[in-house]
Amino acid sequence: MGIPQPTATTRWRCALCGNLTRFDVTRSSKAVEYVHLDLAGEPKVEEREVISETIESVRCRWCNAVDQVELVDRPGASA
Ligand SMILES: [Zn+2]
Repeated sequence: MGIPQPTATTRWRCALCGNLTRFDVTRSSKAVEYVHLDLAGEPKVEEREVISETIESVRCRWCNAVDQVELVDRPGASA
């Protein structure tokens, strides 16, 4: 099982309540960061390259359903 990924023409929709706009997304990512420290030792990330990214779960902000998203067409997308 997996979370369907939205594309340029599709978007998430909560299958239970129809929410289209608000989700809590738990994402794990592997990234390389260019960390630049100033003379005081304060680090600052100046570049971040994402190597891989996985969406682990999506929770609907309206009804709290977990991983119940489905893909629907975005407005204006040709069917
Ligand atoms: Zn919902």
